[in-house]
Amino acid sequence: MNGAVNHEKKALVIGCGIAGPAVALFLKRAGFEPFIYEADKKSDEYEGLFFNLASNGLRVLQELGIDGPVMEEGIAMRAMHMLNGKGRVLGVIGDESGPVRGYTVKRGFLHKVLRDEALRQGIPIVYDKRLKEIENNSVYAVTAHFEDGTSETGKLLIGCDGIHSKVRSIVLPDAPKPSYTGLLSYGGFSPKKSGTGKSELQTMIFGRRAFFGYVESDKETFWFGNMNLSGSPTRKELQQIPQSEWRSRIEQLHEQDVEPVPQLVQSTPGAFGVYPIYDIPKQPVWHQGSVVLIGDAVHATSPSAGQGASLALEDAMVLAKCLRDNPHSPQAFASFQQLRKERVERIVQYSRRIGQRKHATNPVQVFFRDLMLPLFLKSAKKQSHTWLYDYRIDWEKSTRGM
Ligand SMILES: Cc1cc2nc3c(=O)[nH]c(=O)nc-3n(C[C@H](O)[C@H](O)[C@H](O)COP(=O)(O)OP(=O)(O)OC[C@H]3O[C@@H](n4cnc5c(N)ncnc54)[C@H](O)[C@@H]3O)c2cc1C
Repeated sequence: MNGAVNHEKKALVIGCGIAGPAVALFLKRAGFEPFIYEADKKSDEYEGLFFNLASNGLRVLQELGIDGPVMEEGIAMRAMHMLNGKGRVLGVIGDESGPVRGYTVKRGFLHKVLRDEALRQGIPIVYDKRLKEIENNSVYAVTAHFEDGTSETGKLLIGCDGIHSKVRSIVLPDAPKPSYTGLLSYGGFSPKKSGTGKSELQTMIFGRRAFFGYVESDKETFWFGNMNLSGSPTRKELQQIPQSEWRSRIEQLHEQDVEPVPQLVQSTPGAFGVYPIYDIPKQPVWHQGSVVLIGDAVHATSPSAGQGASLALEDAMVLAKCLRDNPHSPQAFASFQQLRKERVERIVQYSRRIGQRKHATNPVQVFFRDLMLPLFLKSAKKQSHTWLYDYRIDWEKSTRGM
């Protein structure tokens, strides 16, 4: 593997989720030789449920020339109806005839588009490489040691290994740990009875006992729910609970909700995805020596604002620009952190605030929420969200002196 590699330019990318292939593509454009190392044994097109790719994230894909398949396969987001548990409309966000704010897309699909593009551009993706240790040799070299006993050395290492990042725990052992939001996310894909086409309207319901959202593609209804769950469960622990138990628990949670909620849950074939929601509200340091963190590894956000994947894509582009403009990695990493920190922290907080409204389940809380939410939505409608969706990164523009 190390044959004709220029070690001065070799970038070790740890993790092939969303951020990993994206940063590898931009680094290649900036003149580096990226190698991606992924812990999973092979690529899996069906891993994960779905998420929103907002217009700010879509712009990054456009820069890479791979936005087309996502727009074709995804479901355009224009408007969102918010209902209470009895089906009464509490408010509408966006406009059904207004601009597209992004696309709802299966995570597996976006993942495949990014991976395929990396492979097409000759970027190696090496599977079954779980990072175990890092030797941050100097500011000019770093070595990654993997659980299979192999090692790789490069000029820099980028931690794209998600919310429970091993890279973060090695290089920044005192960094704040991910914080549990008290919510569990679950969901699935329910087949549609008749081909009514895609719907550009998302429906969100503050159900009687849990939150529920759905949107329709040509063939399926994508749905998710959020329920309160105490403790700090890990994804692994939750996956050990038998699917039959999850199914009966989730069916019961939603059996008294308005149609089509119970029917969507019941008609879902196969396994439900189940994920505890954590976020990382503040991370004071994002880099150490020749190592830097991006995406969920440094600023995981809860999914309520629909920005996790978009932020990871933005990071990828900004980091590569900084490294292009400043050959001294620590300085490039410092400008990357400076350019990104305020924006991502604001979004993580914003998403948490939205998620907090999903907690209400007792009748008094529900009464006040249903009373206040229409007012909140009215005022939110008046507020400009351009800071969120209109963020643009110009590849040509230098980051020096910014
Ligand atoms: C399997 C999976 C399913 C998901 N499903 C959803 C979903 O349905 N909805 C949603 O909103 N978000 C989902 N997410 C999270 C979402 O992808 C991220 O929030 C966001 O896109 C940011 O991406 P990321 O690349 O920073 O992190 P991630 O997408 O989490 O990618 C991290 C990658 O690093 C790899 N990795 C972890 N540890 C190591 C290690 N020690 N060595 C090497 N590689 C390592 C992981 O296997 C993974 O491929 C999912 C994440 C994963 C991993």
